[in-house]
Amino acid sequence: MCGIIAYKGKKDASTVVFEGLKDLEYRGYDSWGIATVADSEVRVIKKVGKISDSGNVGLVRSNLAIAHTRWATHGGVTEGNAHPHLDCSGKTAVVHNGIIENYQELKRQLSGHKFSSETDTEIIPHLIEERMKGGISFEVAVKEVANLLRGRSAFVAISADSKKLLAVRKGTPLIVGVGNNEFFIASDITAFLKHTRRVQYLDDGELAVIDSATTFFNIGSGEKIDKRIIEIDWQQETAEKQGYEHYLIKEIMEQKETLWGAINQDEAKMLAFANDINNAYGTFLIGCGSAGKVCMTGEYLFSKVAKKHVNSYVASEFPNYSHYLTPKSLVIAVSQSGETADVLDAIDAAKKKGSRVISLLNVFGSTMMRSSDEYFMVNAGVERSVVSTKATTAQLAVTTLLAYASIGKLQEGKFLLMDVAEAVNDMLNPRYEERIRKLAQMLKGRNDAYIIGRSLNYPMALEAAIKLQETAYIRAQGFAGGELKHGPLALIENGTPCIALVANDEVRDEMISNASEIKARGGFIIGIAPENNEVFDYWIKVPDVGNASPIVNIIPVQILAYHIALLKGLNPDYPRNLAKSVTVK
Ligand code: GLU
Repeated sequence: MCGIIAYKGKKDASTVVFEGLKDLEYRGYDSWGIATVADSEVRVIKKVGKISDSGNVGLVRSNLAIAHTRWATHGGVTEGNAHPHLDCSGKTAVVHNGIIENYQELKRQLSGHKFSSETDTEIIPHLIEERMKGGISFEVAVKEVANLLRGRSAFVAISADSKKLLAVRKGTPLIVGVGNNEFFIASDITAFLKHTRRVQYLDDGELAVIDSATTFFNIGSGEKIDKRIIEIDWQQETAEKQGYEHYLIKEIMEQKETLWGAINQDEAKMLAFANDINNAYGTFLIGCGSAGKVCMTGEYLFSKVAKKHVNSYVASEFPNYSHYLTPKSLVIAVSQSGETADVLDAIDAAKKKGSRVISLLNVFGSTMMRSSDEYFMVNAGVERSVVSTKATTAQLAVTTLLAYASIGKLQEGKFLLMDVAEAVNDMLNPRYEERIRKLAQMLKGRNDAYIIGRSLNYPMALEAAIKLQETAYIRAQGFAGGELKHGPLALIENGTPCIALVANDEVRDEMISNASEIKARGGFIIGIAPENNEVFDYWIKVPDVGNASPIVNIIPVQILAYHIALLKGLNPDYPRNLAKSVTVK
């Protein structure tokens, strides 16, 4: 989590990083700060709260600056704990993403240093200072310190004397942007996309030294590394709100187009993938949060469409199962950002066993892309809202295609998804949104809700619960249709909202029976289904799309969660305590 942006060049660095931070806010938003080098001095501004809520903050003009928007892991949300952090002399400033697992041990080596925060990060500038006292250069000190840190992190350092920008990547992303005699470093390309689309990806264990040019080094061996400049094709517009009030609703509406992008896959690659599945002894789908629910849906899809057993696991738990992986196992990792620490660790565990890893990703150049044997882009475009919508449905679409491809029926899968894309296009109109907004009005005072689904739509019941929890702070729980009567039914009272995700499939009648059981206890039944039914108290129509029903069934819940959040006065783009791109464990 957290966003880093740094700049060295002819423009006013403070303004460039201040604006860039706003584009990174989705990665963390409890506090922010900027350090600039001007007149051979480091000046720091720090504030608690969101950068987009800050007015004129009195930035100092400069050509060199680093900035950070924080998602606290060590130390509370205070101005003192906000980054950048300085050494005792105030000459070196550091911003950091991640966790230093051995920071207590390293801090013990720094007796005599004065600390002004509770963060793990603050040891970095002091460790650098300690080394520079011995007369070694800023670059060498940074390299040595980088080698001491355990855990996944990345940091950027500046010093008032050298005026260089140094960046280290050790498990979380940093990308160098190359402009015209100017350089950027950021956790995510969107932070500098309005200035340049030419990038150099730092790999793990590398140091970038930016002066009048950028030089890359391996932090272990000290060797210089040649790096290609890559031109990326994301357009700035896709990363902006384009007239919508929030990224969340913009991204929900973009599902009209993004599904087309997801379908558009390289057929030869898909068929090679089918081969991998057919030859594997054990296929495992792994992901976290919404992507984890996509994986679970994949388990049902492969069973139903391909009559194949694949397993789905929550990525953070996967290393605990890895004991039985072999070089013949196949791991399919799903992540929007491609930087999710839990998934990266699961991939590491699989690689240690020699297993093959294929990733489904939305961010080109991400760590997962580079650590997998093969990857598929889900092509949803930049997803800025912390609450995932269009990336989730794009992942669902690609997973559906893979299930069809694995039995040589790729075209059938494509045609099905093309129908879905058209149906979603028709569905996402203002009248539809209004019908869901009316339901939001009815539910806005409730703080509980239950969602049920069976078969392919059971994982979507879990996903629907996540949407309502994170967006509208509703204590929502998802269940398999048959499970409610094994305990949770005791919680149903008069008017308790219960959403039933129904498809025209072999479990439809059972779902209607489960909804009736809840209604009989006073539950208020919201049916998301292709057809109305007398058991529904409120019906939201969705297209009848066979095995792609998870895609169309989750969309109304996304819209519902958005509108409940608005009616409750919440900012749907910034759920409390959360951040996108979860780069810590
Ligand atoms: N561990 C650091 C802190 O708590 C960095 C957190 C982040 O990545 O934002 O300040």
